[in-house]
Amino acid sequence: MKIVVLPGDGIGPETMAVAVDALQAVSQRFDLGLQLDHDVAGHDSLKRHGATVTPALLEKVLAADGLMLGPMATYDFKDESKGEINPSKFFRKNLDLYANIRPARTYPGMPARLGEFDLVVVRENTEGFYADRNIESGGSEMLITPDVVVSLRRITRQCCERIARSAFELAMTRKKHVTIVHKANVLKIGDGMFIDMCHEVGKEFPEVRVDDVIVDAMMAHVVRAPDRYDVIVTTNMFGDILSDLTAELSGSLGLGGSLNAGRDHAMGQAAHGSAPDIAGKDLANPASQLLSAAMLLTWYGQRKGGAKFLHAGAAIEAAVAATIASGQCTADVGGKLGTRAAGQAVLAHLRAA
Ligand code: NAD
Repeated sequence: MKIVVLPGDGIGPETMAVAVDALQAVSQRFDLGLQLDHDVAGHDSLKRHGATVTPALLEKVLAADGLMLGPMATYDFKDESKGEINPSKFFRKNLDLYANIRPARTYPGMPARLGEFDLVVVRENTEGFYADRNIESGGSEMLITPDVVVSLRRITRQCCERIARSAFELAMTRKKHVTIVHKANVLKIGDGMFIDMCHEVGKEFPEVRVDDVIVDAMMAHVVRAPDRYDVIVTTNMFGDILSDLTAELSGSLGLGGSLNAGRDHAMGQAAHGSAPDIAGKDLANPASQLLSAAMLLTWYGQRKGGAKFLHAGAAIEAAVAATIASGQCTADVGGKLGTRAAGQAVLAHLRAA
């Protein structure tokens, strides 16, 4: 399995270094033969190549079996004509990574403020309110007059259908419960279509219980009783917001691993951003990047790699859980270790098992 590794901005190099060590450790232990191809995106690429991402990098990623993308300082990238392209958008759009899978669960050994839970947000990843990527060319956010802006949201039957299918297929491997999160009371046509397509696909999965919740109320429900939920399917921006909340409810945004998956490609990428407030301070929790790496290995195992990749993904998840249980973790989840030492603890668990 060939994986392109792009450390990203801010805390990215610190957390990605831990993920790379873990990937190498499981490659050795499970005989995966992983080939890691290190390259740059974001600020490093802007300095080196005059653009945050390049066509040559895309070619390389298209030819690989997976991508590990570090967090990007996307807010800094304002002008595409100066090479400041949002790398997340670039890869999600060009690799058609339509499903963003963002699990959130509590861990033994860590106080669960809201009780134990284990849920997954399945977020549509290619259209919705993301005006920098929801049309073929250019952007769909317009300055109509110096004082008037229009930002367009795109919802298509095809994208609703495929994200719904991802959610129901995932639910079949879990507690067989899908919750549709929407704003169809206001966005009657767009979110109306989203709900309709989710129910339509749901008919193919009669064992799966389906309900729906309006997004604003969902913010209260998921804080009140996160254990009510199993798989939550929603549109792009709602999923982005909700999944940061669920990661934090599980203990920290630093536990937010995620996979961006399409039919032929996948990208492991933590749910959070480049965290400039803690960058370079050895404070970042590497768990999000580790869990993203585990999800990428599992995705590959399910498609072509076979059982050893599934075992490798499970081993990384188990090592993260074991370090949290023993308190060998970073401060955001109640430990006293820095990024590097927390990473070493995960490696020790991976090697000892
Ligand atoms: P952020 O997600 O970077 O940080 C939010 C808070 O969570 C901060 O207090 C941060 O310290 C904390 N945090 C994040 N990751 C952590 C970790 N691994 N361990 C411990 N604490 C962690 O959000 P922001 O500060 O609003 O954004 C910073 C930059 O990241 C912006 O340029 C934004 O556009 C970008 N961003 C990128 C992505 C992405 O690449 N997928 C996602 C979100 C934001």
